[in-house]
Amino acid sequence: MKEKASIYIFDANIFLTGLDFNIIEATIYTTPSIIEEVKVSKFEEKNRNILNKINVAIESKKLNLKIPQNEFIIKIREISKKTGDFNALSEADKELIALTLELKEKQGGDIKIYSNDYSIENVCSELGIPFSSLYKDGIASKIIWEIYCPQCKNIYKAEELNKVCEICGSKIRRRPKK
Ligand SMILES: [Zn+2]
Repeated sequence: MKEKASIYIFDANIFLTGLDFNIIEATIYTTPSIIEEVKVSKFEEKNRNILNKINVAIESKKLNLKIPQNEFIIKIREISKKTGDFNALSEADKELIALTLELKEKQGGDIKIYSNDYSIENVCSELGIPFSSLYKDGIASKIIWEIYCPQCKNIYKAEELNKVCEICGSKIRRRPKK
Protein backbone atom coordinates (compact mmCIF):
# COMPACT_ATOMS: atom_id res chain seq x y z
CA MET A 1 0.00 0.00 0.00
CA LYS A 2 1.26 3.41 -0.87
CA GLU A 3 1.53 5.89 1.96
CA LYS A 4 -0.20 9.21 1.64
CA ALA A 5 2.28 11.87 0.58
CA SER A 6 3.54 14.25 3.24
CA ILE A 7 2.64 17.93 3.11
CA TYR A 8 5.00 20.55 4.50
CA ILE A 9 3.95 24.17 4.96
CA PHE A 10 6.85 26.64 4.79
CA ASP A 11 7.23 30.06 6.41
CA ALA A 12 9.25 32.86 4.76
CA ASN A 13 12.26 32.27 7.03
CA ILE A 14 12.49 28.69 5.73
CA PHE A 15 12.55 29.81 2.07
CA LEU A 16 15.21 32.36 2.97
CA THR A 17 17.64 29.63 4.00
CA GLY A 18 17.90 28.84 0.28
CA LEU A 19 17.25 25.13 0.74
CA ASP A 20 16.87 22.88 -2.29
CA PHE A 21 13.21 21.82 -2.69
CA ASN A 22 14.03 18.84 -4.91
CA ILE A 23 15.57 16.86 -2.08
CA ILE A 24 12.44 17.17 0.07
CA GLU A 25 10.12 14.19 -0.29
CA ALA A 26 6.93 16.07 0.37
CA THR A 27 4.59 18.45 -1.37
CA ILE A 28 5.20 21.96 -0.10
CA TYR A 29 2.50 24.56 0.49
CA THR A 30 2.63 28.20 1.42
CA THR A 31 0.46 31.30 0.99
CA PRO A 32 0.92 34.05 -1.62
CA SER A 33 1.56 36.55 1.19
CA ILE A 34 4.53 34.52 2.46
CA ILE A 35 6.05 34.63 -1.03
CA GLU A 36 5.47 38.41 -0.97
CA GLU A 37 7.46 38.53 2.30
CA VAL A 38 10.32 36.69 0.61
CA LYS A 39 10.16 39.19 -2.26
CA VAL A 40 10.27 42.31 -0.12
CA SER A 41 13.05 40.96 2.06
CA LYS A 42 15.77 43.52 2.46
CA PHE A 43 18.28 41.08 0.98
CA GLU A 44 16.41 41.11 -2.32
CA GLU A 45 19.56 41.18 -4.43
CA LYS A 46 20.96 38.11 -2.66
CA ASN A 47 17.58 36.44 -2.79
CA ARG A 48 17.14 36.45 -6.53
CA ASN A 49 18.42 32.87 -6.58
CA ILE A 50 15.88 31.87 -3.96
CA LEU A 51 13.04 33.47 -5.92
CA ASN A 52 14.16 31.60 -9.04
CA LYS A 53 14.07 28.31 -7.11
CA ILE A 54 10.59 29.18 -5.85
CA ASN A 55 9.35 29.88 -9.38
CA VAL A 56 10.74 26.59 -10.70
CA ALA A 57 9.15 24.70 -7.79
CA ILE A 58 5.77 26.36 -8.47
CA GLU A 59 5.95 25.39 -12.15
CA SER A 60 6.75 21.77 -11.32
CA LYS A 61 3.91 21.69 -8.71
CA LYS A 62 6.41 20.83 -5.99
CA LEU A 63 5.37 24.07 -4.33
CA ASN A 64 1.73 25.12 -4.15
CA LEU A 65 0.39 28.55 -3.27
CA LYS A 66 -3.00 28.63 -1.60
CA ILE A 67 -5.04 31.24 0.24
CA PRO A 68 -6.78 29.70 3.26
CA GLN A 69 -10.54 29.90 3.60
CA ASN A 70 -11.81 32.69 5.81
CA GLU A 71 -13.29 30.41 8.48
CA PHE A 72 -9.79 29.10 9.27
CA ILE A 73 -8.30 32.60 9.43
CA ILE A 74 -11.04 33.60 11.89
CA LYS A 75 -10.24 30.56 14.00
CA ILE A 76 -6.51 31.40 14.10
CA ARG A 77 -7.30 35.00 15.12
CA GLU A 78 -9.39 33.71 18.04
CA ILE A 79 -6.83 31.16 19.18
CA SER A 80 -3.89 33.56 18.94
CA LYS A 81 -5.79 36.03 21.15
CA LYS A 82 -6.20 33.24 23.67
CA THR A 83 -2.50 32.29 23.63
CA GLY A 84 -1.38 35.95 23.68
CA ASP A 85 0.32 35.72 20.28
CA PHE A 86 -2.17 37.86 18.31
CA ASN A 87 0.01 41.00 18.19
CA ALA A 88 3.24 39.09 17.60
CA LEU A 89 1.86 37.42 14.48
CA SER A 90 1.63 39.26 11.17
CA GLU A 91 -1.44 38.79 8.95
CA ALA A 92 0.76 36.56 6.74
CA ASP A 93 1.74 34.44 9.76
CA LYS A 94 -1.93 33.96 10.71
CA GLU A 95 -2.83 32.99 7.14
CA LEU A 96 -0.01 30.46 7.10
CA ILE A 97 -1.24 28.75 10.27
CA ALA A 98 -4.82 28.92 8.91
CA LEU A 99 -3.70 27.18 5.71
CA THR A 100 -2.02 24.45 7.76
CA LEU A 101 -5.16 23.92 9.82
CA GLU A 102 -7.30 23.82 6.67
CA LEU A 103 -5.05 21.21 5.00
CA LYS A 104 -4.94 19.17 8.20
CA GLU A 105 -8.73 19.11 8.52
CA LYS A 106 -9.57 18.68 4.83
CA GLN A 107 -6.74 16.46 3.54
CA GLY A 108 -5.30 14.82 6.63
CA GLY A 109 -2.17 12.72 6.40
CA ASP A 110 1.30 13.75 7.45
CA ILE A 111 1.17 17.54 7.72
CA LYS A 112 3.81 19.71 9.30
CA ILE A 113 4.54 23.43 9.42
CA TYR A 114 8.12 24.68 9.24
CA SER A 115 9.02 28.04 10.72
CA ASN A 116 11.56 29.66 13.00
CA ASP A 117 8.89 31.88 14.59
CA TYR A 118 8.21 31.25 18.26
CA SER A 119 4.65 32.66 18.17
CA ILE A 120 3.73 30.39 15.26
CA GLU A 121 5.12 27.46 17.23
CA ASN A 122 3.04 28.47 20.23
CA VAL A 123 -0.27 28.70 18.33
CA CYS A 124 0.43 25.40 16.52
CA SER A 125 1.10 23.68 19.81
CA GLU A 126 -2.30 24.94 21.06
CA LEU A 127 -3.95 23.49 17.92
CA GLY A 128 -2.04 20.20 17.93
CA ILE A 129 -0.39 21.01 14.60
CA PRO A 130 3.04 19.37 14.17
CA PHE A 131 5.65 22.13 14.05
CA SER A 132 9.33 22.07 13.29
CA SER A 133 11.97 24.72 13.12
CA LEU A 134 14.39 23.87 10.36
CA TYR A 135 17.33 23.67 12.69
CA LYS A 136 15.67 21.25 15.11
CA ASP A 137 14.77 18.89 12.28
CA GLY A 138 16.55 16.60 9.87
CA ILE A 139 16.07 18.99 6.96
CA ALA A 140 18.89 21.12 8.29
CA SER A 141 21.29 18.30 7.50
CA LYS A 142 20.19 18.53 3.86
CA ILE A 143 21.32 22.12 3.59
CA ILE A 144 24.68 22.49 1.96
CA TRP A 145 26.74 24.64 4.28
CA GLU A 146 29.50 26.97 3.35
CA ILE A 147 32.23 27.30 5.96
CA TYR A 148 33.57 30.84 5.95
CA CYS A 149 35.17 33.62 7.93
CA PRO A 150 32.56 36.33 8.66
CA GLN A 151 35.34 38.93 8.91
CA CYS A 152 37.56 38.46 5.86
CA LYS A 153 35.17 36.18 3.85
CA ASN A 154 37.78 33.48 3.31
CA ILE A 155 36.19 30.06 2.53
CA TYR A 156 37.25 27.00 4.53
CA LYS A 157 36.78 23.22 4.55
CA ALA A 158 34.04 21.72 6.77
CA GLU A 159 36.57 20.51 9.37
CA GLU A 160 37.59 24.10 10.06
CA LEU A 161 34.16 25.09 11.49
CA ASN A 162 34.49 26.88 14.86
CA LYS A 163 38.26 27.07 14.51
CA VAL A 164 40.10 30.37 14.11
CA CYS A 165 40.65 32.04 10.72
CA GLU A 166 44.33 31.80 9.78
CA ILE A 167 44.16 35.19 8.02
CA CYS A 168 42.36 37.44 10.48
CA GLY A 169 41.87 35.39 13.66
CA SER A 170 38.04 35.49 13.69
CA LYS A 171 35.96 32.44 14.58
CA ILE A 172 35.05 30.42 11.46
CA ARG A 173 31.30 30.02 10.94
CA ARG A 174 28.87 28.45 8.51
CA ARG A 175 25.97 29.66 6.36
CA PRO A 176 23.60 27.88 3.94
CA LYS A 177 25.21 27.79 0.53
CA LYS A 178 23.08 29.47 -2.13
ZN1 LIG B 1 39.30 35.76 8.42
